[in-house]
Amino acid sequence: MKTNICEIYPCLQGEGSRAGTPSILIRTSGCNLRCRWCDTPYTSWQPEEGIYNTEDVLFALNANTHIEDVIITGGEPTLCRSLGEIIELCVEKGKRITLETNATQLIAENLMRAVDLVSLSPKLSNSSPAEKAAALRHDTDRIRISVIRKWIESAADYHLKFVVSDPGDIREINELIEESGIERRNIYLMPEGRTEKELQQKRLWLADLCIREGFRYCERLHIIIYGDKRGV
Ligand code: SF4
Repeated sequence: MKTNICEIYPCLQGEGSRAGTPSILIRTSGCNLRCRWCDTPYTSWQPEEGIYNTEDVLFALNANTHIEDVIITGGEPTLCRSLGEIIELCVEKGKRITLETNATQLIAENLMRAVDLVSLSPKLSNSSPAEKAAALRHDTDRIRISVIRKWIESAADYHLKFVVSDPGDIREINELIEESGIERRNIYLMPEGRTEKELQQKRLWLADLCIREGFRYCERLHIIIYGDKRGV
């Protein structure tokens, strides 16, 4: 039976505290948010049907025994019907699991505890889409402080990653930190952009902002190495 897994491939982790780590990436299709700048619209705005199932996940794990890390991402992977099975397979094979989520959904407690690193990426207002009905749904759902707190309490390790479009975004980030009590050293700021040119325009002011405010700077390695391509 097919599930909503749309991509499985070995790669380097491109973002966050494990950037550069060889990993097997498992991507699910389907998302509850509609970010204006979504870099995987084939999992959100026009969600593709899954073409893989958990047997394909097992095949990829067995074919890459030299790779220790697995990235489960989306779309929004917490909505994936077979997430429990995927996590169990990874645990069975002794993999280190990074789960990347928009931090609006919880999963079963035992599954959260099996995650080695949860990469929480709450979306700022810069993500709101132009279309009114979509923006209303998106803005209602995009920040869930209680969900962020529960993930932090449950997973073995965590970090937060914010996509920053404009220096003014810092106000929202600081408000969220105040409300949630998250430590600054666990927060990464990443420039918004799908091309090297767009990223370059934001790097300098974002690097300065990270130094001034005490946040970590986050690159998008896969774009630097390969450009805006699928399957890398
Ligand atoms: S949460 Fe992620 S997958 Fe969903 S629309 Fe935003 S960027 Fe795309």
